[in-house]
Amino acid sequence: MKFEYPCGDPPPAGETKEIAPGVLWVRMPLPFALKWINLWLLDDGDGWMVVDTGVATDESRAHWTTIFASPALQGRPVTRVLCTHMHPDHVGLAGWITDRFHCALWMSRLEYVVCRMLVADTGREAPEDGVNFYRAAGWDEAALATYRKRFGQYGRMVQAMPDSFRRVTAGESLRIGGRDWRVLGGHGHSPEHICLWSPELNLFISGDQILPRISSNVSVFPTEPDADPLSDWLESCVRLQREIPPDVLVLPAHNEPFVGAHGRLQELIDGHELCLKRVEQRLQSGPQRVVDLFGALFPGAVTSELLGFATGESLAHLNCLIARRRARRRLTTDGIWLFETV
Ligand SMILES: [Zn+2]
Ligand SMILES: [Zn+2]
Repeated sequence: MKFEYPCGDPPPAGETKEIAPGVLWVRMPLPFALKWINLWLLDDGDGWMVVDTGVATDESRAHWTTIFASPALQGRPVTRVLCTHMHPDHVGLAGWITDRFHCALWMSRLEYVVCRMLVADTGREAPEDGVNFYRAAGWDEAALATYRKRFGQYGRMVQAMPDSFRRVTAGESLRIGGRDWRVLGGHGHSPEHICLWSPELNLFISGDQILPRISSNVSVFPTEPDADPLSDWLESCVRLQREIPPDVLVLPAHNEPFVGAHGRLQELIDGHELCLKRVEQRLQSGPQRVVDLFGALFPGAVTSELLGFATGESLAHLNCLIARRRARRRLTTDGIWLFETV
């Protein structure tokens, strides 16, 4: 599918680019495989609303400091910080910015609470439930040792969060500057993701809910092994096709602003349905462990870095097939899950 990217080159880190009246594009580097995140500044009358923040690194803090002092902000302060969801690239500096400007954090309740929970896990030992979960998925002892060692990374990329927040709920309307922005929800990539839509500007700040060139991670995690986030994700994609106009300019958290939301949502739906079909076909050849299904879902080899993501995504497809009564799961006496067709 061909999409239009009408906003041209992204702004260099530490600079802003106005893409609509009172809407500034900011781009921050990320220390991950994913190299950049887009953040937005919305004219809020007396100052600016920051939408998403970047990870808690000295580099991001330095870029923000430059931006706060830049002429583009006209000497006006940050009035509030809104986070679309709780992933570290989105909330990492929320506490730092709200502290600096003595302003409030706006977020959905579930994203705020889960964020606080994950930060609290930092420094803890890996839980046995987590080890058993990945063992059941087919990980060997070396991979489980790496899981134990890496457990609790989340909080290292997130600066202390504010101890209170203003709840944002799908369906409500936010007055930002002189404009109304509708809050639309999404589930599956994270528990209660929010997006902002301005009918007046025909802009849709999508967070990670719609990305033009990468598909958002939809994963099952050890805290809820039976979760079915893929069904939630597919439902959200179908609903968003009804809620936003086809010609809306999407401002995604990764890649570039684009026009073509409906087509992109359809691609995401079709892509997952195809993956579900491939997994089901693989199951027809006999019972499979989670790790046996990577070949049906990912084109290249799954490196140890990506093992957690691949496992979570594969389980998301398997749990969706179980919910559709196309597959079932049993536990062997060794504690390994085997999946098979019904
Ligand atoms: Zn995310
Ligand atoms: Zn993201």
